[in-house]
Amino acid sequence: MTIAIAIPVHAQEGSVRATQVDARVIGEGLIQVTLLGVGGGPHAGERGKDALGINYSTLVEIEDVAFLFDAGRGAAEQIASIGKANFQKVDKLYLTHLHSDHNIGLPDLWATAARTRLRTAPMQVFGPTGTKEMAEHIEAAFEYSFRYSARPSAPLALIGKDIQQGVVYQQGGITVTAFDVDHTPPANPDMHDQFPALGFRVDYNDRSVVISGDTRFSENLIKHSEGVDVLIHEVTESENAGHHTTRVEAAQVFNRVAPKLAVYSHILHGIEQQLTRDTREAEYTGALLVGKDMDVITIGDEVTIMRAGDTPNGG
Ligand SMILES: [Zn+2]
Repeated sequence: MTIAIAIPVHAQEGSVRATQVDARVIGEGLIQVTLLGVGGGPHAGERGKDALGINYSTLVEIEDVAFLFDAGRGAAEQIASIGKANFQKVDKLYLTHLHSDHNIGLPDLWATAARTRLRTAPMQVFGPTGTKEMAEHIEAAFEYSFRYSARPSAPLALIGKDIQQGVVYQQGGITVTAFDVDHTPPANPDMHDQFPALGFRVDYNDRSVVISGDTRFSENLIKHSEGVDVLIHEVTESENAGHHTTRVEAAQVFNRVAPKLAVYSHILHGIEQQLTRDTREAEYTGALLVGKDMDVITIGDEVTIMRAGDTPNGG
């Protein structure tokens, strides 16, 4: 397998080549990953700019099935930008945890699509303990909107379900596995159970992608990432890990997992060069992509990257 990249990114010498594909056509047997948003934390946004920016959301599409992992700020806007038909398609949301930069886009995604009938089926949201209760509160908060409508349409339910580590979806040759990561508050290391956090792995047709969610260095993530093609990992700009992963630690994770492509998402825009430099200094030499909003990664015989701006609808 080679890594084909639309424009030179920070991949290994020799593994970079230009490619022209229609990013939105999902080929048979492929996994297509769209980084809808890569901004991490409640601040997110561009460093030194006023705009808040788009938060962390990752769309994984396999033929006509779509899985959305987290719905941070702007998730609905980003989905609309790749085509409103996707509101119908995206009916399964997996939350890594319940921090606002991961779920603040959920009410928008759910209510807007339901009220405009762009989605005509209930939306299911799966996540760690607390997800079911959160979904009930969101439904209650938007009760006015649905009751107001002259149409006798019941609200299209938001169905929340608490999940644990293990296989959480298995159908049509697609397996989604949740696994525990560690995002326990640094000040309260004994509160792990009160603040559960998950990572996810998607397997299909001998191809695979892992999404870390928010975590400090995690041996369990390394274990569940064995043999994965694409590893999408969070990183902190800070030198100290706290409840996130430093660049030095991320380089260790990438070296131990040795994915075909390592990707940073959940980052602060404007630190891309610094992330690359520090990860290289920490001696990770494999293919590395510092994600941008709307980057598209296609996993097939090759791993292909369409950088945002190169895609027909990117931006
Ligand atoms: Zn976060």
